[in-house]
Amino acid sequence: MAGVIRRLDETVVNRIAAGEIIQRPANAIKEMMENCLDAKATNIQITVKEGGLKLILIQDNGSGIRKDDMEIVCERFTTSKLQSFEDLASIATYGFRGEALASISHVAHVTITTKTADAKCAYRANYCDGKLKSPPKPCAGNQGTLISVEDLFYNVSTRRKALKSPSEEYSRIIEVVSRYAIHNSGKSFAVKKQGEMVADVKTLLNASVLDNIRVVFGVAVSRELIEVECEDQKLAFKMKGYISNANYSVKKCILILFINHRLVESSALKKAIETVYTAYLPKNTHPFLYLSLEIAPQNIDVNVHPTKHEVHFLHEDSITESIQKHIESKLLGSNSSRTYFTQTLLPGLSGSASVAKASSSADSQEHVYAHQMVRTDCKAQKLDAFLQPSGSQCRPDKAAEPDDSELLNAADDLEPCAAEDLQTDVQPPPEEAPLRKRPHVEEVKDDLTAASLPRRRVIKLTSITELREDIEQQTHKGLQELLQKHSFVGSVSPQWTLVQHLTKLYLLNTTKLSQKLFYQILIYDFGNFGVLRLSNPVPLYDLAMLALDSEESGWTDEDGSKEGLAQYIVDFLKQKTEMLEEYFSLEIDGEGNLTGLPMLLDNYTPAMEGLPMFILRLATEVNWDREKDCFRDFSIECSHFYSIRKRYTLEPDAEEPQDAEMSWQWKVEHVLFKALRSLFSPPKHFSEDGSVLQIASLPELYKVFERC
Ligand code: ADP
Ligand code: MG
Repeated sequence: MAGVIRRLDETVVNRIAAGEIIQRPANAIKEMMENCLDAKATNIQITVKEGGLKLILIQDNGSGIRKDDMEIVCERFTTSKLQSFEDLASIATYGFRGEALASISHVAHVTITTKTADAKCAYRANYCDGKLKSPPKPCAGNQGTLISVEDLFYNVSTRRKALKSPSEEYSRIIEVVSRYAIHNSGKSFAVKKQGEMVADVKTLLNASVLDNIRVVFGVAVSRELIEVECEDQKLAFKMKGYISNANYSVKKCILILFINHRLVESSALKKAIETVYTAYLPKNTHPFLYLSLEIAPQNIDVNVHPTKHEVHFLHEDSITESIQKHIESKLLGSNSSRTYFTQTLLPGLSGSASVAKASSSADSQEHVYAHQMVRTDCKAQKLDAFLQPSGSQCRPDKAAEPDDSELLNAADDLEPCAAEDLQTDVQPPPEEAPLRKRPHVEEVKDDLTAASLPRRRVIKLTSITELREDIEQQTHKGLQELLQKHSFVGSVSPQWTLVQHLTKLYLLNTTKLSQKLFYQILIYDFGNFGVLRLSNPVPLYDLAMLALDSEESGWTDEDGSKEGLAQYIVDFLKQKTEMLEEYFSLEIDGEGNLTGLPMLLDNYTPAMEGLPMFILRLATEVNWDREKDCFRDFSIECSHFYSIRKRYTLEPDAEEPQDAEMSWQWKVEHVLFKALRSLFSPPKHFSEDGSVLQIASLPELYKVFERC
């Protein structure tokens, strides 16, 4: 009864082979993303329908594909990246096999629209089973490539049936894109479902690795990271990344590992790292790590199959040991004193320096005329160099504000801590902070299948989604670019800051910008804040009384007794405690004392003199009846309180203490403007309402000088 052996039809063979390489939508997206990066794209936008099974659209602004190459891009073993076998050893691009697009075209309908820099127009072509269906047609399009993949596995019913759940596929897509986005920080990535306005993962141009870890995994982890970097010439490897410190842990280890810029897995390395952490973390809890390893190409087997994520390399044991040692030394360092940890967050060591470098090298390719010559390194010659005694820059402040009353004194010493610490009220002073000071951080979502999804709470409230959409629709792209690429010149006052962008000088209203920034943080990080714990609880009653006593409140006899009103405010806010704590990390204890405020930005505490009015306005200005109005109004009031303002409690000519002077300037430059660079979507009205003023243009000035 032996069956007849027949040669399989070629298309069937191709289809089977393709299914081996592309097993699910996330694989296809990974391959295509790598192609975008190979093509030097800086902006990659992904849109999917039904978890990528119905449709994947991936748009980049890379080099594009030449029209002549369009005929063969989807054939197997066609690549623009490799010519000889020897090239394999020194490969610097992701792809080299020319297999990805071919495979995808065997199991889906592929359309490519692409334009190179020197082509007059874009071209579009459809592919099926590796072949062009008809000659490319000219069409409109920007430089770069748009690939559309429709009906994945339409002809492989077994595979299609195995992938039943679009939401499962979608979460894998989110996972792979957010990891590439973190690794390729500085470039912008976005993933969204078709038909939705708001992206589920979105990173911005020029954002740092830390910014992006924060965006993806939340502020609780991003605040507890230590920067690592080591190199060993003998073993021919380099490592860079961020690892969580001994204060942070999760239920499952998250190791984001890139080797030579490819997302891979190495269970040996993971195990070795976990061993180091066992000495530092509570039992059955694990660290978070993002590591980028570069290994001499000849020492690693590059010819791994695309689906083989597990890698091996030469000198694996020695390299692993060396990494273990480095991590251990960092953990010890971060434990013996908190200072070490804060230093890694100081400016200069953060991502912004590399951004500045990148932009200046890009500029150097073109000839720059004298009147276009601009400062591109934001660290060169700032105003404060002329105003401040040297050596006084770059110091973070904490309790440096002058004390205006006992109340402010009490609220002055704020201790940042993770949102999950809600139950702890013992705050040992930092010097004697013992190991495992904080209870470990619990992973919130455990029911999700993908091994290590972000532990950030996902907020699905329509009201919040709509508020986010409003922000997006209102964004002024030009202003956003200005803020992303600006060079900081100096602070004129807490309210006004000078920045430079290209050949122009701008005066920015820091108060308005910071208020909008805090508003957006409140809406985007909704439900995910850390807590600024007040060292002494402050009675809401006292705060309300202080506010009513102030002129700003506009209180008159007709409003009724201040005491009665203050008590009403306390009782009213006490009813909202649960919601305020859960969504905004604003903590009120059973006695009606304020105990914690949301932590909106690292190293930033609001000026406490605004606290009484904030409390009063919460009771009077917020529409608590409608969800969306409530979240919006609360965020407006809270952002007003956090915004940086002229200090109104000081006499206009009173001298501020040197320390306080430094503290707001440091905050403006290194906290606010850093965040404005990467986290902010400026609204359109800023260009018209005097929030952003252009005060000089170099080409214009140059004309004036030429005449002299
Ligand atoms: P490989 O990346 O291994 O070369 P692929 O099948 O992934 O193979 O891609 C085939 C070729 O198609 C690439 O070598 C490249 O020339 C071209 N290509 C694919 N995607 C893009 C893109 N987004 N931008 C520019 N060229 C691309
Ligand atoms: Mg490729």
